[in-house]
Amino acid sequence: MKIQKDIMTFCANCNEHTKHVVKLYNKKQQRGLSIGTRRHNRAIKGYVGSVEPKIHPKKLGKKQKALLECSKCKKSSEKIFGGRTKKKLEIKR
Ligand SMILES: [Zn+2]
Repeated sequence: MKIQKDIMTFCANCNEHTKHVVKLYNKKQQRGLSIGTRRHNRAIKGYVGSVEPKIHPKKLGKKQKALLECSKCKKSSEKIFGGRTKKKLEIKR
């Protein structure tokens, strides 16, 4: 999917439509002490009771996140363009 470099959208902080710069979202480092990570580490060690493996249906495509940065207040928000897509997100330069 192709998106333009800057778009006009609503900014909740400015409470009006402003120009936003689109950037690709990159995954950040996980927090080591969050409850999800601790629970996962315990499950790997075998402290959690036997869990039946669930069969999940395979999803077609991925939801790809993009970061929108407001040019007025410099605050950024996340947005998913187009739901599940097979093609990679591409920003026009
Ligand atoms: Zn703003």
